[in-house]
Amino acid sequence: MSVKVRFAPSPTGKLHVGNVRTALVNWMFAKGQGGSFVLRIDDTDLARSTAEFEQGIEDDLAWLGLLWDERDNQSKRFDRYEDAAARLKASGRLYPCYETAEELDRRRKVQLSRGLPPIYDRAALELTDEQKAAYEAEGRRPHWRFKLDGKRVAWEDLARGHAEVDTASMSDPVLIREDGLFLYTLPSVVDDIDMAITHIIRGEDHVTNTGAQIEIFEALGAPIPGFAHMPLLVGADGAALSKRLGSLSISEMRDLGYEPIAITSHLGRIGTSDPLEVGASIQALGESFAFSKMGRSPARYDTADLDRLNAQALHAMSYAVAQPRLADLDADLGEGFWEAVRPNLQKFADVIEMAAIVRGPITPVIEDAAFAEAALAVLPETIDASLWPTWTNAVKEATGAKGKGLFMPLRLILTGQSHGPDMATIAPMIDRDRIVKRLKGEAA
Ligand code: GLU
Repeated sequence: MSVKVRFAPSPTGKLHVGNVRTALVNWMFAKGQGGSFVLRIDDTDLARSTAEFEQGIEDDLAWLGLLWDERDNQSKRFDRYEDAAARLKASGRLYPCYETAEELDRRRKVQLSRGLPPIYDRAALELTDEQKAAYEAEGRRPHWRFKLDGKRVAWEDLARGHAEVDTASMSDPVLIREDGLFLYTLPSVVDDIDMAITHIIRGEDHVTNTGAQIEIFEALGAPIPGFAHMPLLVGADGAALSKRLGSLSISEMRDLGYEPIAITSHLGRIGTSDPLEVGASIQALGESFAFSKMGRSPARYDTADLDRLNAQALHAMSYAVAQPRLADLDADLGEGFWEAVRPNLQKFADVIEMAAIVRGPITPVIEDAAFAEAALAVLPETIDASLWPTWTNAVKEATGAKGKGLFMPLRLILTGQSHGPDMATIAPMIDRDRIVKRLKGEAA
């Protein structure tokens, strides 16, 4: 049986690092096994779902290279959920309840004050037809709960090993609200059955749901898929991922200049035994992925690692790949320029500043005219890759300046700024005439 997995985001917000990791692990697992990846938009909550968020999810996944083999919307499948609900009602597994939120809350408080677990007491199962009719006559609409078996539900989790949930310690979950809205639990199972999903891969915050959902698969007479519940992401300090990082959207990361392969290599490899290096391609990440490499402890999300992988991805980028992007930024100064600058890039857009320094015009900043004159006097006749060490040594001998006192004035003269790219890289790229003009204080 070939592997089929799904990523089921709700279009009620943007994709962020946490849910992209879920998408990515699903994708890597499927592709590593020659299987397929389904994008399933979990939009049963019509009030909170929007077409813009849905489009954003697709754009982000496509940008990351996580292309799907199939896609569907839950909002188009309500008849299937009605069907399944009817079957569960007929078998007595889905039962109507009339309690209001306040009534349930009061009951929970009483249970807690008696030291009992706050589990739904199934009072609705005792209602007679007359009592139900009386509630309906009052204008109450039922919500529908799934009657759990109340047993130890066990499965072999691809990420956690042997896993168990005791459904006797859980309230019967509400599957349909009084306004008729299907909550996530049932549609998800119905879709997984209809689409013949072989493995459900998601965060470990869904472990408890899995207990109830396995019982729903059984109640609908369907085979139980495999499950993998991934450890959650934590920050570099091991504490919960900060709100800032956790809610950082993929579109914001794109705007910050992160490369898709850096993001996918990072999110795909943290918390695994693979070295945290940038992958050759997203396909390669899929081929090397295995749940057996995933540890049981939380995966540490460290921006410093992401920055390192981003730089690695740029350092390995060929001119052929970079060229259209350089052209877009009006910074394509040829292959030689790219080869020279790429080892110094942290973000692709760093090339803009480098190109501006090479191409000019730059307004030099000269704080000491005598120093600039002395530097001009020892400027080598031919500019080659060794310009910087050769020239700065000569300037040092001529002026006695050293350290910051030597390098900073030269940077200010050549670039007009006190910060910027590595001078040893960029200086040999500048025309000699231009350097001469800048040393004379002319914009060039
Ligand atoms: N929409 C659900 C979520 O994002 C899907 C969970 C699942 O994968 O079953 O949490």
